[in-house]
Formats: sequence, C-alpha cells, structure tokens
Amino acid sequence: MSTQIPKTIKAIQVDKAGGPEVNVLREIPTPSPGENEVLIKVQWTGVNYIDNYFRTGLYPVTYPYTVGSDAVGTLISAPKDYPIKEGSKVFTTAGKAFAEYLVAPTDRVAVLPDDIDPKDGVSLGVQGLTALYLLKESYQVKKGDWVLIRAAAGGVGLIFIQIAKYLGVNVIGTVSSESKAELVKKNGADHVLLSTDSSESNIKKILDITGGEGVHAVYDGVGKDTWDENFEIIRRKGTIVTFGNASGPPPAFSPLKLSAKALKVTRPTLHAVVKTQEEWDEYTSELIDISKKGNINYAVHKVYDFTAEDVAQAQRDISGRGTTGKLLIKID
Ligand code: NDP
Repeated sequence: MSTQIPKTIKAIQVDKAGGPEVNVLREIPTPSPGENEVLIKVQWTGVNYIDNYFRTGLYPVTYPYTVGSDAVGTLISAPKDYPIKEGSKVFTTAGKAFAEYLVAPTDRVAVLPDDIDPKDGVSLGVQGLTALYLLKESYQVKKGDWVLIRAAAGGVGLIFIQIAKYLGVNVIGTVSSESKAELVKKNGADHVLLSTDSSESNIKKILDITGGEGVHAVYDGVGKDTWDENFEIIRRKGTIVTFGNASGPPPAFSPLKLSAKALKVTRPTLHAVVKTQEEWDEYTSELIDISKKGNINYAVHKVYDFTAEDVAQAQRDISGRGTTGKLLIKID
C-alpha cells in the first residue's frame, strides 16, 4: 500500500479517572505494530457503555489511556502471509479506537464485506458480537424459549432482539420510556415492559406471559437496580446472565440464593468468550451471515465529531438514558 503513515496522530486519551471532562484530544506518536499485530487507519469508531467503566475507574486501566473499543477502517500494514489483504476494509474490537490509527492483534480483525455500510460495521464489533455470544453460549437459546432482555433499546439491546427473533426465540424487552418501547416493538420484541412501572407489576406481567413459569434466561446489562428482580422472573433451572453494570455492579450474593430454583448465574465478557482465532473467525462470520440473512438493522442514534467535547457529550448522552442504538464517532 502506498498510504503515507504520519509520524503522529490525534487520539482521545484520559490521564486520570473521572467524568466525561477528563477526555482530551492530543497528538501522540503513531502506534507501531509488533510481530503479531496490524496497523489500521480508523474511519469510524463506536461509543460503548463500557467506555464509562474504563473512564471512571470501575475497570482499571493504565494511564495515559487511549479511549475506545471498536472501529471500522482500512488495513494499512500486516505481517507477511496475513490472510487479509492490505487496503481491505476491516472491523476490530482491539481497543484504543478513538484515534486516527490503531494497532490490533492479528487475531482481532475481520474483513467487512462490501455490502455492509462501514457505519453499520462498527456495530458488528463489541455490540453485535456481544449479543451473539450471549445468545449462543452464556445461555444457549433454543427455538421457542422465553428470554428477557434488559435495556432493549440500547446499542447491544436492539441488535440482541433482532438476533434473538432470527433464532426463533420469544423476547420480552425492558426499557425506560414509551418511545423506546415503540422502537423495541418495531425491532421485533414480542412484549415490552417499562422499567419505570413497579417491579411487582412487571414480575406479574412476565409470569403471566410465560404461563406462570418465568423466562428461560434473563440477559441483564443493567446490574444493581434489576438484580433482585431477576430471581423472581427466572424459571426453575433458568440462567441469569449478568453482563453489565449500567446502574452499578450487582451485589455479592451467596450460592444458596440459587438453590430453590436450581439456577445458573454467569458473568461473561466478550474478550473472555471470543478469545482464540478460531472463536473470532467463527463468531464474526456467523454475525455477518445473520446480519445479511436476518436483514439486521443497525440503527444509528447520532454521529459525533472527533473532538474532546463531542466525545464527552456522547458519553454523557449514553449515560443519560436518552439514546437508542449506536452512537458513532467519525474519524476520517
Ligand atoms: P446502551 O446503549 O444499552 O446504554 C445503556 C442503557 O442502560 C441505557 O440506554 C439505559 O436504557 C440502561 N440503563 C439502565 N439503568 C441505567 C442507569 N442507571 N444509568 C444509565 N443507563 C441505564 O449501552 P451498550 O449497548 O453499550 O451496553 C449495554 C450493556 O452491555 C452495558 O451494561 C455494557 O457495559 C454491557 N456490555 C457488556 C459486554 C460484555 O461482554 N460483558 C460487552 C458489551 C456491552 P433504559 O433507559 O432503557 O433502561
């Protein structure tokens, strides 16, 4: 490739834990790929709720920390015999993605097919892969199962509902507003409940919908606020999948809490589930396949500029519960 690689690039970094204001845009040396790494010129990057956990220190990082989880861009350089050609449009979940160039491990990069819009390609990263692994592994859904998906209008949530429906699952979503409920219905959920209604009335509705049994699995990215309710709406031998902390981390609990219904609880992360090259290849190709066959709609809430102010605003927006679907930052 003949792309001129600059000596320095712009990147959003943080130097200390704090609020959205700690994001700074600065010039840093262009990262240089090592033996099993590639260099990607970033076109689009995605805002993820997890960015808040890193920024606030809930998940520890080393400073200066370059923000960002996933991106779509152009493969600029790669080791000899790398199966993806230089110049290809690719997506990655390598991190350090709020930057003009990023370095990714060779096993965290996939080709973005020509018929998928690069903007949508960002959703194939952290959010799409998360929805897919949760449905395939954390609790492996079967046709006809009932599942509850919390924060169903969010970035992960909207994709989650659509893939669950594609897999033949009955979906109940929870959201915090009527407008989100409408969107979640439009994306295929069979039932939508408002988390602003009383927990008692929602528990009753879920039990009524599922013939008194409860759901086979609850997928909960909300955390602290919804933890106790999960135990009321899950059926005997069901699985509680806790995968996020939007309202704060769930409390510590005794395994005895699981005994009355013989429950399972799992707490996965994308990078622990989709770890090896084989797992990456399998998940990314299945996600692309489902995206096409299932005609998955990767709704974009808003595109933000690549400035510290816009990144801070995007993080405030996603934390403020007013967003739906994907938030994007245009880098190039
Ligand atoms: P979302 O777009 O879903 O935004 C978060 C949503 O959480 C909000 O829209 C809001 O929806 C809901 N929410 C509930 N309570 C609160 C609260 N107190 N403060 C703020 N939001 C709240 O974000 P993402 O799609 O990026 O991520 C969704 C969840 O999935 C997050 O918890 C994230 O950390 C987790 N995640 C986990 C991964 C893993 O592998 N373990 C990977 C990727 C994401 P509403 O107003 O409708 O309740």
